Amino acid sequence: MSFDYKRGVLHAENVALDRLAEQFGTPLYVYSQAMIASNWKRFADHWPAPHKLCYAVKANSNLAVLNLLARLGAGFDIVSGGELARVIAAGGKASNVVFSGVAKSREEMAYALEQGIYCFNVESAAELERLNDVAAAHGVIAPVSLRVNPDVDAQTHPYIATGLKANKFGIAMQDARDVARRGQALAHINMQGLDCHIGSQILSMSPFLDAADILLNLVTDLRAEGINITHLDMGGGIGIPYQQENTPDVSTYLHALQERAEKVGNLTLLLEPGRAIVGNAGVLLTQVEFHKPGADKDFLLVDAGMNDLMRPALYQAYHDIIPVAQHEADKAIVDVVGPVCETGDFLGHARHLSAKEGDLLAVMNAGAYGFTMSSNYNTRPRAAEVMVHGDHAQLIRQREVLSDLWKGEQIMEMPR
Ligand SMILES: *Cc1c(COP(=O)(O)O)cnc(C)c1O
Repeated sequence: MSFDYKRGVLHAENVALDRLAEQFGTPLYVYSQAMIASNWKRFADHWPAPHKLCYAVKANSNLAVLNLLARLGAGFDIVSGGELARVIAAGGKASNVVFSGVAKSREEMAYALEQGIYCFNVESAAELERLNDVAAAHGVIAPVSLRVNPDVDAQTHPYIATGLKANKFGIAMQDARDVARRGQALAHINMQGLDCHIGSQILSMSPFLDAADILLNLVTDLRAEGINITHLDMGGGIGIPYQQENTPDVSTYLHALQERAEKVGNLTLLLEPGRAIVGNAGVLLTQVEFHKPGADKDFLLVDAGMNDLMRPALYQAYHDIIPVAQHEADKAIVDVVGPVCETGDFLGHARHLSAKEGDLLAVMNAGAYGFTMSSNYNTRPRAAEVMVHGDHAQLIRQREVLSDLWKGEQIMEMPR
């Protein structure tokens, strides 16, 4: 475990979190390099070449995280031109990048073509036409995988279910053949793959395997028509235990996919894990400002809010909240809430905690969709980020200063 109590104080690897709070202030994201690397190896060890792993950048896009993964041989799944620029700035190779996303602009397509990415995951017939146009203007051929929506229920929170026909993502099953034929006919498109991403925080293997079976049948059908599909990308979505939930066993899942693909033959597999690589490798450190008694229950007001960690407000997501310093004081039931002026601004409801002003708390499993979803709402500077490696801790993102927050803004000139 990368986050453990030693001598009564919570540590990230060998570094005490109270020391980091003192040095860098709070709210503070702290990541464990060893945990990220070991999560990555759990996938890579069961995924022999030519199969590819493309880390989903949106889960945690800090340059230090991307650089670590690039050095471990990762490819990357991006959803914007900005994410591609980050991958390149972090030392990742464009040739290992797949580009997902429902509404790619012409500029983003051109940039990705110039950089020579591995594949575009195309989500609609209109996107295919636009990509063909942009590739023609550049005199190149765009490598394409069609993102198909297999209409399987991932049984996750509705905001992170993406593989139902009611969702905006992907091409409906009944249209997939027509779009693939069109791709085959277009001069600047190379139809080479199929992909899907059915949702996030998925806790059982069966929706993934149902989706794989649906897509593998489509691979066979398209090949019979002379459309030579050579790769299948099953997206991300593997859940992590936020509350001791059972989660799919990675090696079992990866082997099940390989076994199915071998039956079809000549197929390179791709996966796009995000949360499963970084989720449990980060905590958000926060300090208690006040303990405020309420009519029905007490509140712990802390210095991290929904602008720092949006998941509870957005998805009613659960994160364990534990004290940095272990102690024996009597616990009470409290709501842990932030300073932001919204009732939805909470980190945890009805938690069994005892903490007083100045105490430090760690919000666990905050490595994925934590900092990347943070904002400046209420004109709050975004948190600093630190990476720990053994005994060593390094600042990997400075805390914003107030003047950063109105950079680029201008007061209106008054007409005379
Ligand atoms: C968000 C996303 C992922 C990563 O999902 P996780 O649940 O974090 O593994 C992968 N692929 C696509 C297309 C995504 O949008």
